[in-house]
Amino acid sequence: STPEQWNDIDLYFKTKLHTSDPVLDSILKANTEAGLPAIDVAPNQGKLLYLLAKLAGANNILELGTLGGYSSIWLGRALPEGGRLVTLELDEHHAKVAEENIRKAGLENKVEVIVGPALDTLPTLKEKGFTAFDFIFIDADKPNYPHYLKWALNYSRSGTVIIADNVVRKGRVIDPEDASVQGIRQFVDLLSEDTRIDSTAVQTVGSKGYDGFILGIVK
Ligand code: SAM
Repeated sequence: STPEQWNDIDLYFKTKLHTSDPVLDSILKANTEAGLPAIDVAPNQGKLLYLLAKLAGANNILELGTLGGYSSIWLGRALPEGGRLVTLELDEHHAKVAEENIRKAGLENKVEVIVGPALDTLPTLKEKGFTAFDFIFIDADKPNYPHYLKWALNYSRSGTVIIADNVVRKGRVIDPEDASVQGIRQFVDLLSEDTRIDSTAVQTVGSKGYDGFILGIVK
């Protein structure tokens, strides 16, 4: 199979399984117009996040790496009445675009964007009354993934779902010489040694190329 086929098949399922709609399409368009890189999750993966958050019955969701809020909107849609999602973003411009998109999606009462380096804003979530999240999506800068795993476990309870995106990196993850995957490999080493979490990795191909994600559940 070829990347063209992966793309066509993503498109086929996107149409058949309704993994997009005019609101989501307009958000991707707004992101492009605002100059944001197209590194959001693919529509089929956004819907997977939504389904997983529903399966988990998530009331409180934490996201690391907002970009334009595309995945935040998918996850926000999975929340029941009164549910909350906090999403952490370094870049002020990204956060501004995301807030506008979240408003367009009608989720401004459920979703809060917090601006700053996640390692600085994570400790402040306690002051906001968060002790444990039901669902955590890690999708920010890859070198900090090992730190993000520690924070995610800090903000977990038994049953918390933790997802980390972009862990395959076109297959580079098993190349120990590749500096760009060191954060991911350290993240995997921590998971490997940590007895508090059960996890697996799923490789994916599609409109965003060859990559994969890790899914874990805190014991
Ligand atoms: N989750 C988004 C989606 O699927 O629509 C995509 C997120 S994008 C892959 C990664 C984001 O993490 C970028 O917007 C980037 O600015 C942000 N980021 C990078 N370093 C960060 C940090 N130290 N703290 C918080 N966010 C960071």
